[in-house]
Amino acid sequence: MIYREFQNLKLSALGLGAMRLPVIDGDDGKIDVRAAEQMVDYAMEQGINYYDTAWGYHNGMSETVIGNALKKYPRDSFFLATKFPGYDLSNMDKVEEIFEEQLKKCGVEYFDFYLFHNVCEMNIDAYLDEKYGIYEYLMKQKRAGRIRHLGFSAHGSYDVIKRFLEAYGKDMEFCQLQINYLDWTFQGAREKVELLAEYEIPVWVMEPLRGGKLAALAKEDEEALKALRPDEGIPAWAFRFLQSVPSVKMILSGMSNMEQLKDNIHTFEEDRPLTEKELETLLGIADRMLKKKVLPCTACHYCVSHCPQGLDIPELLALYNEHCFTEGGFIAPMALASYDKDKLPGACIGCRSCDAVCPQQIKISEAMADFAAKLNM
Ligand code: SF4
Ligand code: SF4
Repeated sequence: MIYREFQNLKLSALGLGAMRLPVIDGDDGKIDVRAAEQMVDYAMEQGINYYDTAWGYHNGMSETVIGNALKKYPRDSFFLATKFPGYDLSNMDKVEEIFEEQLKKCGVEYFDFYLFHNVCEMNIDAYLDEKYGIYEYLMKQKRAGRIRHLGFSAHGSYDVIKRFLEAYGKDMEFCQLQINYLDWTFQGAREKVELLAEYEIPVWVMEPLRGGKLAALAKEDEEALKALRPDEGIPAWAFRFLQSVPSVKMILSGMSNMEQLKDNIHTFEEDRPLTEKELETLLGIADRMLKKKVLPCTACHYCVSHCPQGLDIPELLALYNEHCFTEGGFIAPMALASYDKDKLPGACIGCRSCDAVCPQQIKISEAMADFAAKLNM
């Protein structure tokens, strides 16, 4: 296992994400406890020392199961991370109640790492609102030693992350982001990593395989990669890409069975960052994957002043692309939840003024209609 230094700690570069643990009968709330414990035992044996859970994972069961699985190990032999569930606005005034319950569920006296969960368009105002006192409460727990390191995870846009950093950046010790070689350009991950670097905040990675989409590629792409590294599996390329980003300290993978765990551990036996040529090939593959599936909006904004409805077309198209590429998912609905009704895709009147000026010849009006139908918004 390779390790990364973080402050005075040695973290395994691979962390076990406890959001996709093995389950019984396909029921997300029924974790196969025995299988999950076997995975934790194997991970501990192989040197993984970071375990990432959250209040909402597996309908609330993940914290309990992970806490129990780790109980037999000395408290200083693993790092446990969990998060304040601000993805649900009804939790905002319950920070103390939830934090105390989380300690009980996990059976610990402190959390090594604690995060504001999923800072995004929908909750940024609430997270920054002093009336809820979330930040003050968490900082108090940190001073009391019940939180050893405080950070945040984010699925929001660059601007949302910037707002959060302007308010709390000086106290954030790490940030968990969705980074992989596809989102490097697609979701602007590169710019977000650069922004965090301005605050000297190291990066924790989630969704390294983009929900499994990068575990297998088109035949010609797999062949191109095999030609460069014959002994490297396809999922390993996604991890090698992340090993090439200097500020990445932790790569979390939500593993569902022993086979995935073993494969990932094998990949993390050594650091094998990409050469420039390999990086170029990989990003070329990502580019081709995106071109096949997403609209080529360059965010030039030419269309915006032509829209009688005042829609933020490039932003909506970015969310549309994300939604189509992911074939659903929570990111677009979550971001649109913060929009006024008259700025949603459904407010498009189909006048096509935008279509006429788009240098990429995107049929924007059709995309808006399709987006509105898909999301019923
Ligand atoms: S078609 Fe829709 S998005 Fe385009 S200009 Fe008209 S109202 Fe705006
Ligand atoms: S004009 Fe076309 S490319 Fe430019 S922002 Fe609008 S949709 Fe995107």
